[in-house]
Amino acid sequence: MTSAASVDVVIAGGGLVGASLAIALARSGLSVHVVDPVTAEAPAQPSYDDRSTALAPTSRRILEALGLWSAIAPEIGPIRRIHVSDQGGFGMTRMDAAREGLDALGYVAPNRVLGRALRGALERLPGTVQTVTDSVATVHTDEDTARVELGSGASLSARLLVAADGTHSALREHLGLQVRETDYGQHGVVANVTPAREPAGEAFERFTPEGPLALLPLPGGHCSLVWTVAPDHAEALTAMGEAAFLAALQDAFGYRLGRFLRVGHRVSYPLRLSRSDRRVTERGVVIGNAARTLHPVAGQGFNLALRDVAELAERVHGAARAGGDPGGGQLLAAYAVARQPDHRRVTAFTDALVRLFSNRVPGLRLARNAGLMGMELLPGPRDALMRQAMGRSGRLPRLARGLPLESTHG
Ligand SMILES: Cc1cc2nc3c(=O)[nH]c(=O)nc-3n(C[C@H](O)[C@H](O)[C@H](O)COP(=O)(O)OP(=O)(O)OC[C@H]3O[C@@H](n4cnc5c(N)ncnc54)[C@H](O)[C@@H]3O)c2cc1C
Repeated sequence: MTSAASVDVVIAGGGLVGASLAIALARSGLSVHVVDPVTAEAPAQPSYDDRSTALAPTSRRILEALGLWSAIAPEIGPIRRIHVSDQGGFGMTRMDAAREGLDALGYVAPNRVLGRALRGALERLPGTVQTVTDSVATVHTDEDTARVELGSGASLSARLLVAADGTHSALREHLGLQVRETDYGQHGVVANVTPAREPAGEAFERFTPEGPLALLPLPGGHCSLVWTVAPDHAEALTAMGEAAFLAALQDAFGYRLGRFLRVGHRVSYPLRLSRSDRRVTERGVVIGNAARTLHPVAGQGFNLALRDVAELAERVHGAARAGGDPGGGQLLAAYAVARQPDHRRVTAFTDALVRLFSNRVPGLRLARNAGLMGMELLPGPRDALMRQAMGRSGRLPRLARGLPLESTHG
């Protein structure tokens, strides 16, 4: 057996989630290696593509506490209002930041901007955190170590292995963690579009018989579109000419923002729910899309993962401060228990939205329109929906409360 370089933590995957965790662990004093075959600068880096991500206010606090927000803030669009409606139905509801005494309900950040901020921060980290351009080929764990074999033939031995290698995580399988999948039979067509009227901080969630259509406000009068449709329709929408696409979008969305004038590069993603019921094992933990991939209807995937990052980083910092083991069984078990309620809530909330609002059954349609009207009139259910969407439900880790990890627990 060849000798392996020994480090404290190996993070397999330097996408949005793996990179965020590396930054959160930077001041722990532990040696951290982030391994990813795709460099952050590469155009093919899948985490930092043409999509935009809606960030909840708790995610803003985490990014602020990690020192990333100032690099992101100049290029984001605040969400001041959300307009929810049903195509061809009477129901609608509005959520308004001013009415709640808030600056914004959330923020829309282009993934490229997030990628640039993460990359810049990774480059400035102390020497204890290193990025390695390689892939993790296999991993063997036992009570004391995770032994990680890289594609290049090199190997690393770590006290904690974090699998942040995305939806099709090979590491999850190597760690023996099962995944359950629900295929929604839908694709998300993603593009930036320019309407005649500026969205001025208004986000739109419109439920159509094929699935939800979301338009999120970006700076410069543009919007980020995620349009959920049947797979063959998605193929047609990405292949058709610009004028035909804009006409189809106009038909589905209506004229609340005037005419649609332009559309950028269009990409289609298959949408499914995949979740690993167990997310920790001996010396290993899965996070981000590797642990749970959600339908983007509620914009929760990265927000949920950032709260995982905050919780895990808090516990690993605590262990490092106490001279303890950052990958010990008790630490990982406690982490899994602490994160379970948030995972359950967010998954159930997202799945219910998809099922309720991607349905042509007439009785259900009437019920959801009545539900939307009810939410407009009754603050209770609307507030609960808002708390969930804003990531404010349940106990929050320190970073999510804007507190640094270096000081003692609070
Ligand atoms: C259309 C769409 C819209 C979305 N909108 C929102 C939103 O508004 N709000 C929100 O919160 N979330 C949103 N999400 C979810 C969000 O994009 C994901 O939660 C996030 O991208 C997950 O990042 P990740 O780092 O876990 O995985 P990925 O982005 O897939 O990154 C995985 C990384 O692992 C690397 N890798 C793969 N295999 C290996 C290996 N063997 N060894 C080492 N490295 C490896 C890859 O190169 C990659 O860099 C959306 C998703 C979609 C599809």
